[in-house]
Amino acid sequence: MARVVELVDGFGRRITYMRVSVTDKCNLRCVYCMPEEGVKAKTHDEMLSMEEFARVVRVASALGISRVRITGGEPLARKGIVSLVRAVAAVPGIRDISMTTNATVLAPMADELARAGLNRVNISLDSLKSDTYARLTRRGDLASAIAGIHAAQRAGLRPIRLNAVVLRGINSDEIESLAALTLKHDWDVRFIEFMPFWGNGGLFGEEYVVPIGETRRRVLALGAQGPAASAQSQSGPASYLRLRGGLGQVGFISRDGDEFCGACNRIRLTADGMLRPCLLSEASIDVTAALRGGADDDAIADLIRLAVATKPESGKSRGADGGWEARPLSQIGG
Ligand code: SAM
Ligand code: SF4
Repeated sequence: MARVVELVDGFGRRITYMRVSVTDKCNLRCVYCMPEEGVKAKTHDEMLSMEEFARVVRVASALGISRVRITGGEPLARKGIVSLVRAVAAVPGIRDISMTTNATVLAPMADELARAGLNRVNISLDSLKSDTYARLTRRGDLASAIAGIHAAQRAGLRPIRLNAVVLRGINSDEIESLAALTLKHDWDVRFIEFMPFWGNGGLFGEEYVVPIGETRRRVLALGAQGPAASAQSQSGPASYLRLRGGLGQVGFISRDGDEFCGACNRIRLTADGMLRPCLLSEASIDVTAALRGGADDDAIADLIRLAVATKPESGKSRGADGGWEARPLSQIGG
């Protein structure tokens, strides 16, 4: 018998996709995401355990969630991540498990993750120059990230998507060279418009923003095969094109995602056990107390339904004072 999809929000959108942020800590300190000193460490008790994440996914799956993305912070920095992938893969009804990672420690883990049931990865790669990569990530080693990408490819974690946040004057000279990776490899390269979140580690300024239209025009100048197509992709609102002769696609992710809200299919679960109906809204529903207070699966399901029911029609892109959402993406599960 076909599964009945129950998760439909107040605007008729079917919710089938859950992003699970397993930690807000990271081994890197990207200038657009985290302060140099890192984020205030949550205690072990403040964070959901791997068993608790898996339980929420299991309950959500029975309600119609079929895709899960594991993110962070840096998900590979959380102990037990392979077991979580295995547990999620064992949930009936979950047919796609992906992960967003900086890939710097992926190389030795890629095979094990694939065997555990991970299907694919999105990898942050903002620069192809070692010195720029080190400056941007504050402590990252480009060679380790590249090794992670190749290991993912060998392990069959496909399609490989590379994400690059474009910052004017820092890596904006690499738009063409990053896009050109799609000519050599069957990887997708997606450019992300910088969101100057408050408290994101020192880079606050609009002066660093390269409007996504400008990035798109520069890529188009390389020669595209057909017009760009818009899509609410599994990992974000994006438009895509293919360079002439390209093996992979080039994507463009705008910080003004409102135009894609109509097709939004997701909810988020944060490392500290909050269900967040929308990336751009501060609303959240705590599941930790229920998980730890002996609640049965029906009660957890009710909280998931409530999160879905409170999904706003569209994201509030900016606060009244013109600033962006106060929590950096590393804490919401970008
Ligand atoms: N650590 C993993 C990684 O870097 O891929 C996963 C978490 S990271 C928060 C998820 C995504 O958010 C990355 O692609 C990162 O580039 C993006 N991101 C973080 N801060 C951002 C910002 N201020 N503007 C735009 N994208 C941002
Ligand atoms: Fe870490 Fe990812 Fe944030 Fe960079 S973007 S600091 S890799 S969580």
